Amino acid sequence: MSARRNLSPTVAAPRKREVLEQFTNGPFMAAMDLIEHADRSVQDALCELDARVACNTARPFHDGLRQWTAHALAMYGQAFSDDGGQPMLAVRRRWTYRSRLAAPDKRGATTYEITVWGRCYRSADGATRELRLVANHLRGRARTDTEVAVAAFVLAAGGPGPVPQRVRVVRCGLLEGRAETLFDGTREAAVELYRHHGQEALGDLVEGQEFRPGSACADCSYAPVCPALPRQPGLLGLDDRSRPRRTWSATNGRAYRACPAREHLRRHHLPVDLTVERSAAAERGRAVHSYLERRHEARPHTPCVPHIPGNWTADQYKLPMADRDLGARLLRHHAEVCPLRQTHGDDDLQVEPDLVFDDPAADVVVLAKPDLLYRDHGVWVWRETKTSARDRSWSSDPLTDYPQLALAVELVGRGALGGGRGRVELEVLRPSGVDLMTFDPFTAGTRAAARQVLARQLQRWHTDDEFAASPGVECGSCEVARWCSARVPIAGNVA
Ligand code: SF4
Ligand SMILES: [Zn+2]
Repeated sequence: MSARRNLSPTVAAPRKREVLEQFTNGPFMAAMDLIEHADRSVQDALCELDARVACNTARPFHDGLRQWTAHALAMYGQAFSDDGGQPMLAVRRRWTYRSRLAAPDKRGATTYEITVWGRCYRSADGATRELRLVANHLRGRARTDTEVAVAAFVLAAGGPGPVPQRVRVVRCGLLEGRAETLFDGTREAAVELYRHHGQEALGDLVEGQEFRPGSACADCSYAPVCPALPRQPGLLGLDDRSRPRRTWSATNGRAYRACPAREHLRRHHLPVDLTVERSAAAERGRAVHSYLERRHEARPHTPCVPHIPGNWTADQYKLPMADRDLGARLLRHHAEVCPLRQTHGDDDLQVEPDLVFDDPAADVVVLAKPDLLYRDHGVWVWRETKTSARDRSWSSDPLTDYPQLALAVELVGRGALGGGRGRVELEVLRPSGVDLMTFDPFTAGTRAAARQVLARQLQRWHTDDEFAASPGVECGSCEVARWCSARVPIAGNVA
């Protein structure tokens, strides 16, 4: 709908803007413009951005984003310090391919435009064009063949400027300070690549009829009338539409409770410290979840059994032997309470579904991903599974410790998953056995407790514009501490 500009957005009133810059590479791109087009040093460019913020001509950005931007600028310089003998000149205006048709085509369109976004360069004689796509890090999502083909085509056939003989598409990891070439060839080869990998995919894109609700719903001007976005007014217990529209999930809630800055920096998808993110316990938990996901998705559906194969971990999890053994022990206990014992048909099971709800009272898009939804005697049951390496009691207040349970209670209780007296379950796998706790959303006390947890999670967050750091013991397990100048130095944390 966005590509077809004749479908106008339906948004009624202007929304409140976030105070802080939300576009992660915004300060980086602004600083690069100063470096390349106004001959500033990295340091001067950063100072100039600060000055713009101070005199209100630019949006403020979080201190963590500033740390990241300084790193990114230095690393970008390192990645392209060797020009390979062919100096490239920065181009101010991005290239755009335009096609105007004499008569409307089968889509009713007469104009097509494709623009590339990245840092743009050309050789002094104009014979070579180069597009540098910036990525936070190279271990992120790889560019697809279609993306590379479309980018190469715009360089080969777009304006302004004379058409080149050679085009290059490069991806630069700003964390690593390293670049990798995605395409390097003649103009004709780029056009040919587009015919094979780009043209049809772009056609599918503008003809696409699929709705895929998710985090994008927060910025989508069609959201108020979207048939695929369920509305749950009052879900979060807030009645305040004066705030910027945002997304919220239990993961955000937990991060915010630990430290507002941490939540904000995670939203920017800044590179995380893998030694924290992939701690042994976290990896073991992920491996167990991944095994259960594969088991529950396999067709025909069969309940899990206590026999766990020796090679139960998926390839991406490199667990030490002790963790592999412990994981297998935990999984054996799952067989006792496997929900597939209660289900009958394929329609009775949803494994890790992505649930999205719009709460118009709070103007927040709520994202949730239950470990499992299964239908028991016609009603939906929400199951969360946790793993613990210890046998002793692990939580005194599960709804507070796991806010996704509180959200689940509220959603099931208000019938958001369908009618009937559904329930929420928490399965805790421990070395000596399994606990299965049930939460009844139709019990007034449980529902009230869930609402209290949600209120505690959301009230401060909903009115927060600054996301100030709250240094303390949490810094020791903070995966974005590297970008935080307020962090408390704790042994093992990144210096
Ligand atoms: S290092 Fe500490 S203060 Fe900084 S974001 Fe992480 S938890 Fe917050
Ligand atoms: Zn199972």
